[in-house]
Amino acid sequence: MTDLLSGREYAARLRERTAAEAARLAASGTPPRLAVVTATADESSAWYVRSIARAAEKCGIHCDIADLGPRATPADIGARLAGLSADHATHGIILQTPLPPGASAQELAAEIAVAKDVDGANPLSLGRLAAGLPAFAPATAEAVVAVLDAHGIEVAGRRVAVVGRSTVVGKPAALLLLDRDATVTVAHSRTQDLAALTGAADIVVAAAGCPGLITADHIRPGAILVDVGTNPTPDGGLTGDIDAASVDGRAAALTPVPGGVGPVTTALLLQHTVRAAAEANGAA
Ligand code: NAD
Repeated sequence: MTDLLSGREYAARLRERTAAEAARLAASGTPPRLAVVTATADESSAWYVRSIARAAEKCGIHCDIADLGPRATPADIGARLAGLSADHATHGIILQTPLPPGASAQELAAEIAVAKDVDGANPLSLGRLAAGLPAFAPATAEAVVAVLDAHGIEVAGRRVAVVGRSTVVGKPAALLLLDRDATVTVAHSRTQDLAALTGAADIVVAAAGCPGLITADHIRPGAILVDVGTNPTPDGGLTGDIDAASVDGRAAALTPVPGGVGPVTTALLLQHTVRAAAEANGAA
């Protein structure tokens, strides 16, 4: 039997600690405040933003949704991000994707002050992460390591294959794992013989956005699998990049979708916001 590595319990513990810290900060005059800037009519994106806002409010973090609408120009979005970066009452800023055609998430995220960049979207944050300097990591990438830690899975010295090289997930996850002394290889859409690469790994992190990409043929017996994929299903649900039925019994452990990396990602975004507020409070 393959163990399921749930993220829900760890996320709940993290939210509890975050709520306690948010209450302490509010009492000392710095109520934590998160802003989510969105510029799309995409319904799944709106659903995700509402779920972040609900989770934030439950932790005592005020969440402002700046909905600029699908016709917002890059200049509108950049100006709003710059305004929030300069606003002393705002501690965390998230730029939600997708953006309107012609708007580059990476270029616009450069407008987010690094100290408020709670989802590690500013290219400077990624550069700092690569250089081993303090910065917020993209929450999903950090969630990959956190979910392994939460289940006592050691990564140091182990071979980890990360499937996907995006700047939001694959690349920063590889950097964080490298920082924890894993031996990391990164696969992508041009990788030849993916199965040989993932089959040599002790831990496989799937972040390709391809439903069911990783099957029993891609892994060695006893492998640990972290599924970052969140692919919509026709019935309105979510499915991962790993074919859970196929790997069952061959993998030692697998993070479920939903309920694995996802809840930890949201909990980390809130924890980052409270950390940013604590630093602002300390500096005030
Ligand atoms: P992306 O499309 O930006 O990047 C996908 C990466 O996968 C690319 O580097 C591409 O080269 C690689 N890839 C694509 N097909 C491949 C294949 N057949 N073999 C090997 N590599 C392949 O996507 P992203 O933003 O990095 O997201 C990846 C997945 O993670 C998506 O399913 C997304 O929905 C999910 N995601 C989940 C969370 C969460 O909180 N759980 C957060 C962000 C993204």
